[in-house]
Amino acid sequence: AQDLELVSVTKRYGATVAVDAINYHFKPDSYTCLLGPSGCGKSSTLRMIAGHESVSDGSILLAGRDISDLPPAKRGTAMMFQNYALFPHLSVLDNVAFSLKMKGVDSAARKSQAHEMLELVDLTALADRMPDQLSGGQQQRVALARALITRPQVLLLDEPLSALDPFLRIRMRSELRKLQKELGIGFVHVTHGQDEALALADDIIVMNNAVIEQAGPARDVFNAP
Ligand code: ADP
Ligand code: ADP
Repeated sequence: AQDLELVSVTKRYGATVAVDAINYHFKPDSYTCLLGPSGCGKSSTLRMIAGHESVSDGSILLAGRDISDLPPAKRGTAMMFQNYALFPHLSVLDNVAFSLKMKGVDSAARKSQAHEMLELVDLTALADRMPDQLSGGQQQRVALARALITRPQVLLLDEPLSALDPFLRIRMRSELRKLQKELGIGFVHVTHGQDEALALADDIIVMNNAVIEQAGPARDVFNAP
């Protein structure tokens, strides 16, 4: 089981303290939402876990190992971005298989693993399409498959639903939730929507002004019955 822990993690951009010595032990293999207003430090926290941003102070542990100084691909984490960032000149299948090609996995193994991931996100029929021939929701599923093919212990999602129309957003919530339970890995999902966090999360971390204001099971955080 994944065991992710933030120990006094701090991020400074010049004189700005974006994340101020936060501590948090993620519950293994659960869905955690990181919630708070714009500018409170959510993205910085996620990007530090992913390794796309260095920590200014403190450390990040995964399964007891300090991953703070490892490159993103060596951490056991994968990140799904807000704007999907698919390669426009690659087919759906090749987009999904891309990271395996970088790792030197042979062509047959890449294909079979990419097909497996497409099945997981229900996109098997669209393997040969180009990204511009997909709807927003379909592009998002490709981005999910592309992140999951690296077999992360923790999947990091930065406002993954914000570009979708409201109808699709509601549907993707339950799909994300289902996927997390199926895979049995940790999901850490950044959002500024309280309803989204309540719909998705086992646990919610509420950030404000660079610190954790409150954290715990979703129903406790919002005093729901
Ligand atoms: P959130 O994701 O909650 O909106 P961010 O982590 O993006 O918050 O930003 C937290 C604070 O850090 C904000 O004040 C933001 O302006 C600042 N910040 C974020 N990224 C940078 C950066 N690359 N350079 C300078 N300041 C940044
Ligand atoms: P979010 O919507 O997640 O809060 P932002 O729109 O704040 O993200 O930031 C988008 C990008 O701009 C990020 O790469 C972030 O590091 C950078 N950024 C955010 N705030 C600042 C800032 N004050 N100065 C420089 N770069 C920033």
